[in-house]
Amino acid sequence: MIQLIRGFKDILPGEVELWQQIEKTVCSLLEDFGFKEIRIPIMERTELFARSIGEDTDIVEKEMYTFPDRKGELITLRPEATASVVRSYIQHKLYAKDPVRKFYTIGPMFRRERPQKGRYRQFYQINAEIIGVDSPLADVELIFLLVTLFSRLSVSDVEVHINSLGCPECRPKFKATLTDFLTSSTENLCSDCVIRIYRNPLRVLDCKVPACREAMTDAPSILDYLCPVCSQDFETVKTALEAFKIPFTVDNQLVRGLDYYTRTTFEIQTGSLGAQSAVAGGGRYDGLVKALGGPDIPGTGFAIGVDRLSEITGLNNADYIKAPDIFLAALGEKSQSLAFKWKCALGLEGVKAEMDFGVRSLKSQMKQADRLGAKHVLIIGDNEIKEGAVILRDMTTKAQVSIPIEDIVENIKTKIL
Ligand code: ATP
Ligand code: MG
Repeated sequence: MIQLIRGFKDILPGEVELWQQIEKTVCSLLEDFGFKEIRIPIMERTELFARSIGEDTDIVEKEMYTFPDRKGELITLRPEATASVVRSYIQHKLYAKDPVRKFYTIGPMFRRERPQKGRYRQFYQINAEIIGVDSPLADVELIFLLVTLFSRLSVSDVEVHINSLGCPECRPKFKATLTDFLTSSTENLCSDCVIRIYRNPLRVLDCKVPACREAMTDAPSILDYLCPVCSQDFETVKTALEAFKIPFTVDNQLVRGLDYYTRTTFEIQTGSLGAQSAVAGGGRYDGLVKALGGPDIPGTGFAIGVDRLSEITGLNNADYIKAPDIFLAALGEKSQSLAFKWKCALGLEGVKAEMDFGVRSLKSQMKQADRLGAKHVLIIGDNEIKEGAVILRDMTTKAQVSIPIEDIVENIKTKIL
């Protein structure tokens, strides 16, 4: 038997209904807030991710599924969506008419991480991006949307964490101070972090190794290094969140795993996920459009991890599984072909009808109807056909009524819907 690849998974009927409900809830809220769907490829040139996410990040260094296609060109299964959305925005000059664009996209991402609870190699994200808005209120709008969504999806125990990563003006000074601090604490850091000191010191703040976390408790805080513009910007975010009564925690070590972030970054964490506590994350990426060859246009966005979200939503999958409305139990061949005709006609009217294609006893068909959870059974025998009326049985109340064959679809609809 060929099994699926480690870290990949099937989402089966019986759980997929919950995913559909989550996606419906998220998309309809985003649409209400003016976001338009964009569909982007799941493969891109490797260079796109290397340039946007950053060469010295875990994602690009060790997690990407990269391979040469048959002509030798390096392509990568996307580890995240923002790079592609921005590529598309630039490639199609979507800024030409109006630089302000709000997009959302849903789909699988691929990262070759160590599989564990809440961490897969193919996982799903819902991304929202606001491109072209400089105001920190765009960041607030995104956080507001996330909080609203988690409430609509009955996720309890969510915490908003925010930080500012500064800008190319103020970050270098912080980076230098952080590097000094790290250089004096190398003996307490994991071997990966020792390399990060010289290549990408901010990444050390993101390391999950307990010893590194411990060593970082005395690290300098980026918030002490913000330039007046970044500082004012961060104040605006905090004031607006307070005005919306959205509780938040300022976490000066929140840096996130991608290099392109500037100013406000945020993460939604929850206590109910165990070690993998982040269910959504995002922030501002003001330099990205330009870095990828477009005009100097700012951006901000978030990504929700749907796999993790599906584990913590208070919604119940059973509420979204659709059992057949009616099971057509046909007795005899003539009844069977009539039942098949009716089944198709009912389906076209939005009535979920099932039947057995073999000729079986009434008892075994009733059992099958029960197994499927059908709410009604229509009993169709050759005698009933002769008399021009069939029997409709309500499986909950066990009540039976006779209904005329003429206009059967309408008759069934009025009785059961
Ligand atoms: P983490 O710190 O858990 O590795 P991240 O910072 O790498 O998360 P992002 O790149 O910001 O995650 O992606 C946004 C969301 O996507 C995360 O908050 C999480 O819910 C989800 N996510 C990221 N990686 C995985 C994965 N390997 N499996 C399942 N979900 C994931
Ligand atoms: Mg990660």
